[in-house]
Amino acid sequence: MIKIYNTLTKKKEEFKPLVHGEVKMYVCGPTVYNFFHIGNARTFIVFDTIRKYFEYRGYEVKFIQNFTDIDDKMINKANDEGITVKELGDRYISEYYEDADNLLIKRATVNPRATEFIKPIIEFVEELINKGFAYEVNGDVYFSTKKFEEYGKLSGQNLDDLQAGARINIDERKNDPMDFAVWKAQKPGEPAWESPWGMGRPGWHIECSCMAHDLLGETIDIHAGGSDLVFPHHENEIAQSEARNGKQFANYWIHGAFVNVNNQKMSKSLNNFFTAREVLEKYDAEIIRFLLLSGHYRTQLNFSEELLDSAKASMERLYNAIYNLESLEKEVRIEQCTEGEKEYIEQLASYREKYIEKMDDDFNTADAISVIFDLVRDTNSNINGESSKEVVKFALGLIREFGRPLSILQKVKEDNLEDEIEKLIEQRQQARKNRDWALSDKIRDELKSKNIVLEDTPQGVRWKKID
Ligand code: AMP
Ligand code: ZN
Repeated sequence: MIKIYNTLTKKKEEFKPLVHGEVKMYVCGPTVYNFFHIGNARTFIVFDTIRKYFEYRGYEVKFIQNFTDIDDKMINKANDEGITVKELGDRYISEYYEDADNLLIKRATVNPRATEFIKPIIEFVEELINKGFAYEVNGDVYFSTKKFEEYGKLSGQNLDDLQAGARINIDERKNDPMDFAVWKAQKPGEPAWESPWGMGRPGWHIECSCMAHDLLGETIDIHAGGSDLVFPHHENEIAQSEARNGKQFANYWIHGAFVNVNNQKMSKSLNNFFTAREVLEKYDAEIIRFLLLSGHYRTQLNFSEELLDSAKASMERLYNAIYNLESLEKEVRIEQCTEGEKEYIEQLASYREKYIEKMDDDFNTADAISVIFDLVRDTNSNINGESSKEVVKFALGLIREFGRPLSILQKVKEDNLEDEIEKLIEQRQQARKNRDWALSDKIRDELKSKNIVLEDTPQGVRWKKID
């Protein structure tokens, strides 16, 4: 039984899907005006892991993550670069895929772009106006927060508290300072679409309400995003969607905590960020994932290079165990396990229950990783050259299995690469001695295909691996 901490009820609740065996999940994706940073990456990786864990538990997951490809930041950046907003979006969407793929993030079922949903967004806004939840003022359309009685239920504040706490610019166009734009009239030089209220563009919140509705339905299982989105973004999404449909929008709201740098939120505006791309240049994706998943997703994480290094060391310990078991698998002579080993296999299998217990408990990847370490410690001290192949295989399969939802521990050793290279170099030397230049070149090319380049030095042939 999977339990989820639901921001809406502020409780851990048993997950009950709308449709048996299925999860309909919507995650707020990036605004595509720049490379994404490690803070964004944590959010993407956390929800990617949650998705993969649901899949591990046998669910079919419909996973939607949008691209916000029209807003003030997009418009300003496109103007700075002298390109269109569309060109900017295209560029950073393709950069997103490059980094996300490299971070082993599984592609979403659909990655909708806000600008592809203008027509249904306009229909959504019209419906809100018809139902009396929104009003037009000179080409802008605002949502009337007072009309939606449950406004504030996600962030746990009522309208009066919110109003007192917020730094609100008095805007004469709005009936109430807490109202928010669902449609924005075009300003000079801005991209715009035709609408019943003149040329304009959608507000940010309505995009997600509309795309979640069109791709998943009126009620969805899970809506997720970083914790900065609880208010106002998700609060406003709830207001719009529930005002329109008269039904609960999402049954479970999941919010991931920030990545900080020196205890401040990592963000583009504070300029204290590391892009995923620059970190990927120095650290393997699995190390980055290990680090970002080594704390619970609702706990903030202070990012530093030291943490990356310690993640790297931890991963090396785990891989040593894996590669050791892989060599044993080839070496051991006994195929089938003995009676005594049968019991040991059962003992090992109990780690699966522990692992599932941790992950079922609000996706506690931190504790799940501890279970992996416990398992590895156990196999390190109990499996050796005397063990049977069956036991070795079982242990190995289990470690790999636990890594799968987290997308760690899935690498395959480059089988004794060094020995193989040395052998090829020797063959090439022999070919040269025999003046068999064709064979010598062939071997050089073969090495090149493995990213190995040769240098002939007075001391002999040297080789190095290039990336
Ligand atoms: P943005 O591109 O700023 O719209 O953010 C994309 C996603 O990353 C959203 O779900 C944000 O909540 C999340 N996010 C932004 N900054 C951080 C951070 N420092 N730590 C964790 N998540 C973040
Ligand atoms: Zn959103």
